[in-house]
Parts: sequence; structure tokens; C-alpha cells
Amino acid sequence: MRVTVWNEFVHERRDEEVRKIYPQGIHAVLGDFLQKEGFSVRFALLEQPEHGLTEEVLAQTDVLIWWGHIAHQEVEDEVAERVTRRILSGMGFIALHASQKAKVFKRLMGTSCGLKWREAGEKERLWVVEPGHPICQGLPEHFELEQEEMYGEPFEIPPPESVVFLSWFPGGEVFRSGCTFTRGAGKIFYFQPGHETYPTYYHPVVQKVICNAVRWAAPSGGPAPTYGNHNPLERI
Ligand code: ZN
Repeated sequence: MRVTVWNEFVHERRDEEVRKIYPQGIHAVLGDFLQKEGFSVRFALLEQPEHGLTEEVLAQTDVLIWWGHIAHQEVEDEVAERVTRRILSGMGFIALHASQKAKVFKRLMGTSCGLKWREAGEKERLWVVEPGHPICQGLPEHFELEQEEMYGEPFEIPPPESVVFLSWFPGGEVFRSGCTFTRGAGKIFYFQPGHETYPTYYHPVVQKVICNAVRWAAPSGGPAPTYGNHNPLERI
């Protein structure tokens, strides 16, 4: 399984508080536990030519993980379009935390993906609401992150095919924190935890969710579709 981890890699270099938690970048921590799980991992960064997402890299990617927050607008439209086309043709896509506002995710959803948010270091409790889903394999019924950014409903997305996790925050809000979609042949998972000032991606259950999601989102190997004018298979 070939995983590409894309990171805008801006906060970790600008902000001392973030650098203390992710000194090599959020992508390095994600890549570390994915490699330990046995996945083949490569990294792609905003600063690279074509943001590291050339046709060649995408052709060699089974699942793309995306972490973006403050630099969504710096992603070139041409690259966003290329990534979107590759997802439609079967590459899995995992959008983490604020990547709900990434160009690629918004194209796939067709909505604003707006939500409520608050940075108050409050606890988040995530409930598994679809225990039979492959992403929930081996998880506890619920788990807690000591500090996370609150994301609250309503979350302006099309109705997900599965709501895998539902989160509760002490301020009273709830949020659909794990949602799945299919677009074309591509499987998509949105997972909300992962604000850059908290050590979320070191949490073993969070790591398990992301590893499970990679396996779930991998291409199924189905036939490549053809479109347009079509000759009949039978005499008509
Ligand atoms: Zn955040």
C-alpha cells in the first residue's frame, strides 16, 4: 500500500508552540506511525514544485492524506484539479482536521464545508457510531482527546454515506467528526481531530483510526469506467 502524506508545513516553521509538538512537521509524525504499520510512505509539501503532487507521484499513490489549514488558497487550481481527477479514478483520500476547507475537499463535496470552531483547549470525546465499519476495527466504544479545537454543527457537507464518529465537546456542541463519501471510484474519509497546537497525532487510537482508514480507502481494483458514445454489445 502506497501512501502519500501531504502537508502545507507552515505552522510548524512559524510558530514555536507548534514546533515543540511537531519539530519535523505534522507529516513526519503521520509518516512515522504509517510506516510502522507497514505502509510505504512518501511526503509531499506545499513548497515543492507542483506541491509535490505531480502526475507521476499521484499515479504511484493508493491513498493520499491531506493536512492543510492556513494556506489552502496557495494550492494551485491546476494541482487541485489533478488530485480531484485522480480521486475520481480510484485513489483514496483522507482529509484531516481543517482540510475540510481545502480546495480538493470542497470540490469533492460541492458545499462550503463551513462549521463552528473554538480554540479553548477543551476535551473532545469521540463516540463510535458505526461499530461495524472497517475504520472502527479494534477501537474502543469511545475515546477522549484531552485537548482539541472544538468543531461544531452544523457542518455544511452533503449527507455522508457513513457517519463513523460523533464528537462531544464540554461547551455543549456536537460534531460529525468522522464521515465517509464515495466520488467516482474514490473513497473519501474526513477525520476532524488534529489541531496543530495539540499532540493529537501521537494518540494511539487516533493513529489506529488513520491506519484503518488507509486500508479502507485503498483502491478496490474495480474496472476503469468508459464514458461517451458506445457501440452496442448485441445486434439491435
Ligand atoms: Zn485547527
